[in-house]
Amino acid sequence: MKPVFLYEKYLTGTLNSKKRKQQQYKKIVSHLYSHGAASIADIVKSARISQPLVASLVEDLIGFGVILESGIGESIGGRRPSLFCINPAYQYVVGVDINLHTLNVAIFDLNNQLVHREEYKDFELENSVDYTDALCEKISFSLSKLNIVEEKVLAVGVSIPGLVDAENGLSHTHLTFTEESLSAYLKDKLGFAVLMDNDARMMALGEKAFGKAKDKKDVLCLNLSNGIGLGIILNSKLYSGKNGFAGEFGHILIDPDGDLCYCGKIGCLETLTSGAILVKNITEAIDKGQPSLLTEYKAEGKEIDLRAVVKAILEGDQFAIDQLNKMSEYLGKGLVTLIHLLNPEMIILVENLRVLVNILLDQ
Ligand SMILES: [Zn+2]
Repeated sequence: MKPVFLYEKYLTGTLNSKKRKQQQYKKIVSHLYSHGAASIADIVKSARISQPLVASLVEDLIGFGVILESGIGESIGGRRPSLFCINPAYQYVVGVDINLHTLNVAIFDLNNQLVHREEYKDFELENSVDYTDALCEKISFSLSKLNIVEEKVLAVGVSIPGLVDAENGLSHTHLTFTEESLSAYLKDKLGFAVLMDNDARMMALGEKAFGKAKDKKDVLCLNLSNGIGLGIILNSKLYSGKNGFAGEFGHILIDPDGDLCYCGKIGCLETLTSGAILVKNITEAIDKGQPSLLTEYKAEGKEIDLRAVVKAILEGDQFAIDQLNKMSEYLGKGLVTLIHLLNPEMIILVENLRVLVNILLDQ
């Protein structure tokens, strides 16, 4: 089930003419979505549709309520042109960010503005129907808070860690309890189109669509959290590999004599540098008597986690900073391999922003 704009359900005509119209409308809507307010001349240039046809399609879209007249633009010789923009409240997109210990549900309008966000701390990821149904309830709860009815939801985008086959909506690492695809299960429960991908690839897509990679063609986006994820944009397109397993950067071999990784191999990059390993190394050293700001934290009976480590680093704990530096060297070695292999235009390092935001909110 693909995302469907509300107006598409009411189009009439033969199958072929409907399809052609839908494509033309989508070109206009997608131009306005990614570029903001535009004149007919701007749309003609980008959509490569004739001027009279664009004018008539724009008139249709105004009639449907999906776009609005938004004012008058600058003159480029002659009369100043009318500008058109998307009606932000025409439909909404739900973003769901599944993590091992937290869940974020956010609602965006068609101007990509955040209109609502709920964060659920201690929402432990479990491979169960109960977890998934609770997740669906959280989505419905957020929508009902804003009085958004079902048909106003364009799609739900789900970001989940682990191996994901986005094309077939399959999650191979988490939420594998269902025999059908996870996205089909969610779609049946929610009644909306569900698009799902691995968290690092979702970040890369976001950076490409709206962020630092907007005007770049070949970009690597590293998700540094408990593990190491990699989203690859090649020639302006997200690269997922044959089964959607591309980007397992954390599992390239760095140390053949190293530790056993949870993936079953020896000496993966993630056994040397990752949030989880940073926490493990620091905890072990503190148990052996290493002085650190975290020593007292542990003595109080609290468990050291990534959040506590980041807090200690921000507070200037020298031992935690040294450990992070040591890990950065391994990460650097891994990155050199990627650079040789893919010759990217840009590498974006996305540290676990949620951890930092939580710390800042607590202070
Ligand atoms: Zn591994």
